[in-house]
Amino acid sequence: MILASDETANALIAGSPDKNITGNFFTSYVDKTIRDTIRERIGHLIRKNKAPEKIITKMLTTPEKWIRGHYFPAGQEKMIIVLEDYTDEYFETKWVEFLAYNDNLTGLPNMFGFEQTLTDSISRTQKSGNFLVMALVDISSVNDFNESFGQKTGDQIILHAAKFLKVFMDTRGFIARWTSDKFILLFPDIAGENHIPALVQGLNSLNNQLFTVDSMKIRIQFTAGYSVFPTDTDDQEELLALSNRALLFAKDNFKNHIFPYKKLPDLIRNNTDIIIRNSLSNAIANGEIYAVFQPKVGTIDFSLRGLESLVRWNHPEMGNIPPSQFIPIAESTGMIIELGNFMMESSFALAREMGNPEIKISVNISQAQFFNENFLDTIDQNLAKYQIQPRQIVLEITESLSMADKKLTVESTHRLREKGFHISIDDFGTGYSSLSQLHNLPVDELKIDISFIRRIHTPDGYQIIHAIASMASAMHLRTVAEGIEDISAVSKLSDLKIDELQGYYFSKPLPRTEILEYITNYQADFFRQEYQKEALVSGSSSAKDE
Ligand code: C2E
Ligand code: MG
Ligand code: MG
Repeated sequence: MILASDETANALIAGSPDKNITGNFFTSYVDKTIRDTIRERIGHLIRKNKAPEKIITKMLTTPEKWIRGHYFPAGQEKMIIVLEDYTDEYFETKWVEFLAYNDNLTGLPNMFGFEQTLTDSISRTQKSGNFLVMALVDISSVNDFNESFGQKTGDQIILHAAKFLKVFMDTRGFIARWTSDKFILLFPDIAGENHIPALVQGLNSLNNQLFTVDSMKIRIQFTAGYSVFPTDTDDQEELLALSNRALLFAKDNFKNHIFPYKKLPDLIRNNTDIIIRNSLSNAIANGEIYAVFQPKVGTIDFSLRGLESLVRWNHPEMGNIPPSQFIPIAESTGMIIELGNFMMESSFALAREMGNPEIKISVNISQAQFFNENFLDTIDQNLAKYQIQPRQIVLEITESLSMADKKLTVESTHRLREKGFHISIDDFGTGYSSLSQLHNLPVDELKIDISFIRRIHTPDGYQIIHAIASMASAMHLRTVAEGIEDISAVSKLSDLKIDELQGYYFSKPLPRTEILEYITNYQADFFRQEYQKEALVSGSSSAKDE
């Protein structure tokens, strides 16, 4: 109970200096929401006769007033409270706090304030086994309005959009302002994916709403992209990235629609192709592209016969991009010439460094490169630059290339062979040519396509390889099998008298220093013994003959 108070205290406690407050309980002037807490704390201070304490209290007065009280115990269950007006300070702190977590135009949480909500929603959804949808909403043409009518009009549009989205989300989930004209919507606890279409439809019904902004009638439109947890991803950060990809795609292709991430995959690839196309020209200069080398081994003696050089691209953002993805793009943009030349130089440089002409280096030559008028000159220059002999080099051309322009292929191949290069037909069996069509093509080697080697353990697969091998032998062509991953394939292919083997069983393709080490430490004996052991188990005929 208040025993005495001065005018300043009257004003702070009751809102006016003239109010007589003596005889009333202090807590009766305190805001109802914290009254019990304050009563408890005062009681505690009085009973314990504790040292002075500061308590910040919201009062009942309107407008809202906050006071800071310094409580001094005065003995005999009495205390003196020195009061300060804390209102300005309170709102200032609150505002700074609010700004840190909220967006001051719309009053919605910003991304900073939203993070906890997102984490909580995801873990709740995860526990319940439900679904969560994250949609990113981009309000159309805000920039145009900013430019034509000023920032204020743009702000009004965002404000209207925020309002109707907030009303929509009130019963469905959470909303935050993501960036200037984008909002993020979170629909947690969706019992089944079959509920999602209705949500999307509901959101879509908000599109095209008419508003009066600065006495203009303005139709607010938006585009959205969304992804579903855990169907599209079970990773919180990726969820945002996927929704964003869906949004970017929708903005380019389905403006003012709501687009799901799951419809993207094929189209994303196109997107990736554009990134590849744009970054390919700098990739060589940036050192992102390099050569790896995979050993080729003789079937009977397991001697090291050669290395195939294969291109690798380690993209700073996309990671390793497989050659099957960027070679076709390099071919369509003409970049393949520069790329092919880089690979030729890397291969010739390694041949020079190895200094062992018995180990040949196979270089893949693409169609555009092979038919390029400068191809022969480039090869000559590189031979001179690295001081190596053509007989150390195998040029791999694909079967489809050799069929593309038969006359030109025959001419070029003749010339290359006259110089001393070996010619190999890569991916043989996929290009619809028959062996007889290869008859007038002067080649040295056939590389049986990996798809046949994969089927070697089936009767059909075995028969196909058998047919290729016996015809190649009649034509005096060397045969190479690639994609050898285990010893049982080694065993079958040596039964079929295939000359050389290449595959992960011997080694994965290795970068320069590692392949040089591999060559130094190579032990044909090791593979020979493994082969003998396998022959004992499987009863392989070639091994028994030895
Ligand atoms: P390719 O010339 O037929 O090369 C053989 C492919 O089989 C390589 O794939 C190699 O890494 C892979 N391989 C080798 N052993 C195994 C194995 O045991 N198991 C399996 N599953 N795969 C194995 P990679 O390096 O991805 O190259 C793919 C294709 O890209 C090559 O097929 C070639 O056509 C092309 N390519 C690679 N490098 C170049 C290049 O420098 N220039 C040109 N024009 N094309 C290249
Ligand atoms: Mg090849
Ligand atoms: Mg191949």
